[in-house]
Amino acid sequence: MADNRVVQGRMVTPESLAELVEGDDVMDAEPIRDAERDCPACGGNVLAVGYMPSVLEFVTGYKCQDCDWSETDRE
Ligand SMILES: [Zn+2]
Repeated sequence: MADNRVVQGRMVTPESLAELVEGDDVMDAEPIRDAERDCPACGGNVLAVGYMPSVLEFVTGYKCQDCDWSETDRE
């Protein structure tokens, strides 16, 4: 599947990447894209994924491909 990417040596789907960022199950996730920014922790490539942790919420999550760094655009 073209949507799958490698993060910290493991293949992730949009859903599994979103769950890594969220630390919990998510309802739905959009295709993974490049965030076009560098990881502030290690300088690695950052991926972005839009997802719905619940029916009322849409969040964009960011995750480094090389280390544990992640964040969301949640206020
Ligand atoms: Zn990193």
